[in-house]
Amino acid sequence: MLREDVVFNDYPNLIRLNPSIPWKTRGNGAIVLRILVDQDKIDRILEITRSKSIEYTEVSGRFKYTQPGLVAYIGEITSYHRELYRRALTDVVVPDVALKIAEKTNTLILLDRNNRGNIGALSALGALTTLDEDYTFELLAYRIPEYWGQRTRHLNTESVKKAELKYRDYLFSNYDFDQEKVLITPHGPDPVLLGLRGEDPLILVKAFKEIEIQEPILGWIIYRSNQATDAHLVKRDISKLRPYQTGYIEGKVLSKPKPVRGGHVVVVIGDGHTSIEAYFYEPTKTLRNIALKLLPGDQVGLGGSVRPPSSSHPRITFNVEKLVIKSLVTYIEKNPKCPRCGKTMKSAGRGKGYKCPRCGYQSANLEKIKIPLNRDISIGVYTPPLSSMHHLSKPKIRYGRENNGKIPVMISQWYVYMD
Ligand SMILES: [Zn+2]
Repeated sequence: MLREDVVFNDYPNLIRLNPSIPWKTRGNGAIVLRILVDQDKIDRILEITRSKSIEYTEVSGRFKYTQPGLVAYIGEITSYHRELYRRALTDVVVPDVALKIAEKTNTLILLDRNNRGNIGALSALGALTTLDEDYTFELLAYRIPEYWGQRTRHLNTESVKKAELKYRDYLFSNYDFDQEKVLITPHGPDPVLLGLRGEDPLILVKAFKEIEIQEPILGWIIYRSNQATDAHLVKRDISKLRPYQTGYIEGKVLSKPKPVRGGHVVVVIGDGHTSIEAYFYEPTKTLRNIALKLLPGDQVGLGGSVRPPSSSHPRITFNVEKLVIKSLVTYIEKNPKCPRCGKTMKSAGRGKGYKCPRCGYQSANLEKIKIPLNRDISIGVYTPPLSSMHHLSKPKIRYGRENNGKIPVMISQWYVYMD
């Protein structure tokens, strides 16, 4: 009945927020429906949305979904909403601040005001313009209620692999060919059967139809999303980093990579003013292995989030999820050898050249010698295995595919409900 009364002026948005917030729900996600509707139908729509949400949270309460949020805003999205989104994506939002913005903008809070979910819901409203910089699509297929709570999803994994291969220019992160692993099925008790990710709604529908599903489904919806766009990796100065922020920093490697307990690797990165310990955690596998090969002097960019100080780390640290190698040192410099006796010489002081500690020979004309290094890593972007990436992190296959500034074409069949 809703369908005849409203016009959707965008795909439903699936908005992911800061993945490093410790008190988030699992994926830190929110859904936004942007609709055009007659003024006299607004109250009815708000009532339907509210009662459906309550009904759903009651049913799913046993699945540990806590503090759901639901908000509604009538009108053009304001700069307050946009700023709140930017902060919720890359920083920490204090509940009071979010609620004040709700008041200031007349955004209605439709469920319990104190629920944490309201912060995510309020923040996601402002994602509209940002989504036009880059976005992706995800087709979510839903299970019938009888299957909710079951962890196993019944589908043919080989058909997922086939579809990903066939449409590889338009799909991403659905199958991990390196680890031979299906990535579209969640493992929890939630009602989602699968999520198929890609660049184009029509191709998602095609690919979805080629996946052999062996259980009844309730229906599917295509969402437009900030997933896989690196939207959370805003440029930041090392000196200004604060706990739980996400971002992208640049600097020089200042220390040899140090393996630490748990299989992690630590590298000190500095920008000439400040330095920070960057942690490549064990689950980032390939990324951590590359980090082990860095050398002091290499220029890098790091995407990730800031860990607060702890008892074992009195200072903040940087949790790396993406490594950009910008330049590599190709040689090391050593003091020259004594032309008379062969001993490695010492500096004779600024501008005075070198002096031999054994025979006393001194020369102002000698220079440091360059010893070439064999580097078996190269300049480029490095990301962890697909299965250990955040929703927001951009997989390498998406580089060059960004949907810059293009307005998505709506297809009429972006959602289907089956009986
Ligand atoms: Zn000498």
